[in-house]
Amino acid sequence: MRDKIHVVADPGVALPTCRETARATVDLDAITANVEVLRGHAGSAALMAVVKADGYGHGLLPSARAALRGGASWLGVAQLGEAMVLRDSGIHARLLSWLHIPGSDFAGAIAADIDLSVSALWSLGEVADAARGLGRTARIHLKVDTGLGRNGAFGDDWQGLLHAARVLEVEGLVRIVGIWSHFVYADEPTHPTVRRQLELFGQAVREAERAGCDLEVRHIANSAATLTNPGSAFDLVRTGLAVYGLSPVPSLGDPQSFGLTPAMTLSADLAVTKRLPCGQGLSYGHQYVTTQDTTVALVPMGYADGVPRNASNLGPVSVAGVRYTVAGRVCMDQFVLDLGPTSTAQAGDRVTLFGAGESGEPTAQDWADATGTISYEIISRIGSRVPRVYLGGPR
Ligand SMILES: *Cc1c(COP(=O)(O)O)cnc(C)c1O
Repeated sequence: MRDKIHVVADPGVALPTCRETARATVDLDAITANVEVLRGHAGSAALMAVVKADGYGHGLLPSARAALRGGASWLGVAQLGEAMVLRDSGIHARLLSWLHIPGSDFAGAIAADIDLSVSALWSLGEVADAARGLGRTARIHLKVDTGLGRNGAFGDDWQGLLHAARVLEVEGLVRIVGIWSHFVYADEPTHPTVRRQLELFGQAVREAERAGCDLEVRHIANSAATLTNPGSAFDLVRTGLAVYGLSPVPSLGDPQSFGLTPAMTLSADLAVTKRLPCGQGLSYGHQYVTTQDTTVALVPMGYADGVPRNASNLGPVSVAGVRYTVAGRVCMDQFVLDLGPTSTAQAGDRVTLFGAGESGEPTAQDWADATGTISYEIISRIGSRVPRVYLGGPR
């Protein structure tokens, strides 16, 4: 393993003078390497690193920069505010923002050279008005709903949106650079909806071209599709989870099997260890009762930090290379472990909730499995009280 350099603690985090009780350590070199691996899967398609939701909890700017070092040429975000932060921080890569509400600052976005997704006539109108006011042309990606039933224009609405956008393109207010969509079952590559969505996507692209669009990028693939369905890459893949080194298709393979390395390690320092007798209940509601005289330890992280409360009696951790399970309820700021009668653990010892799994520690996928969710939620829900600490990055 390479030497890891501690570069920077996220300056956005409060309580900077205190010793941190817990931290999410992010290996920026892993993000860079994951992007390189994903580019290999994407063939000739360009790669958009999706850095929404604070880089899936890893930190927006450090993640974005690490992904660009790996060869991402686009960055994708859900919200305009996220795109503005990236641009204001001096990032020059192409940026696409895709989830907007009426009254969004489209003028600011166009002035900042941000590509905008358009899914409906209202947003087409607002984007065109903003472009007219600025005397500029807005770059837009028309989103077609090929069956997800979420964002995008569906059925006849698609034709209406396309033709209205073409009129504005001829006027010079917008330039339709992309047609795009999103899968329902990207994580089940053989699901019949995948083929159906690809047919409808191809049809939407042909309609756009027939209407006179000169498209730069057609894109539908997320991480799962990029890893399992090379035929869906088109001109651009939008990879999120895999950039951070987690498997979007855990039933088909773990991160290592795809050449990916999980970037985040979530750890804390034990606050207390103490002896308790057999038969002692632990934490609220005494949902766990000791079965022998034992040593328990207090972990200073709770659901306010993103540890799921339904991990009570289920969440896996490791202390000094030994696995334990959360004992009793997860509280807002803390939870308890039963370390057994022979443990010599002390306050201040490190407890790892999850990491890459290379040293036998649990993974974010283990937490997802234990709590009935997906690894996306485990990493993106980590609270703002947990400082992000970075390893690697530019020398
Ligand atoms: C979040 C998101 C992605 C990235 O998805 P992953 O499964 O994390 O790769 C791609 N496209 C859209 C529209 C998204 O919202």
